[in-house]
Amino acid sequence: MNFVNGIALDGPAGAGKSTIAKIIAKELNLPYLDTGAMYRAMALCAISAGISLTDAEGVDDLLQRTDIKVVYEADGQHVLINGQDVTGQLRQEEIGKGASLISKLRCVRDKLAAMQRDIAHETHAVLDGREIGTFVIPETPYKFFITATAQERAMRRVRQLREKGENPDYDTILKDIEARDYQDSHRDYAPLKQAEDALLIDTTHMTIEEAVNTVLRALGAR
Ligand code: C5P
Repeated sequence: MNFVNGIALDGPAGAGKSTIAKIIAKELNLPYLDTGAMYRAMALCAISAGISLTDAEGVDDLLQRTDIKVVYEADGQHVLINGQDVTGQLRQEEIGKGASLISKLRCVRDKLAAMQRDIAHETHAVLDGREIGTFVIPETPYKFFITATAQERAMRRVRQLREKGENPDYDTILKDIEARDYQDSHRDYAPLKQAEDALLIDTTHMTIEEAVNTVLRALGAR
């Protein structure tokens, strides 16, 4: 099958997007592009350079002298900043919050979205993000909006952290999720939004397998 221009999976943090996108990409034998990792890498880069994540001029200047690359290795996607592999440092909570801040800047979005668009057009990849279907590749007919209630997403996060041996506080996590949703969906430029022609999949009461099957059926691949 030929998914020209790529497949867009958007939705809020913690809805299961990346898990679903990875499985879909594997089933369809396409690359998977985690666009959040690119925003996280830029946040890490600015923090390391001592530049405020809300300083548009400082970040723009940093972007001009920063080389960002996405490469694929046997274990999946890696992000290189000026040749250095920063993949292992991107999943920390602070970097996620930083990504949400830096992603508000138009200069950052324009640069990363252009890279994502090129990858989608060249490789027909599965992209997960916030505004892939509305802003990065609005021309693709393959669009999904994956969501779940904030309470369910917070519970999933709590379970994940418990499995890692941590003792998280549900209310704090719920507040963080709600704050991130608000920030992502209220920014002026390319906010988190369901494309009009995207298929809405609410995973609150679904297993990952059910959600994956819904996407594959809609793509005509099952
Ligand atoms: O998906 P992930 O949690 O890695 O994304 C981190 C942050 O990066 C998001 O909260 C969002 O603010 C930003 N982001 C974005 N557009 C994307 C992917 C991520 O603005 N396509």
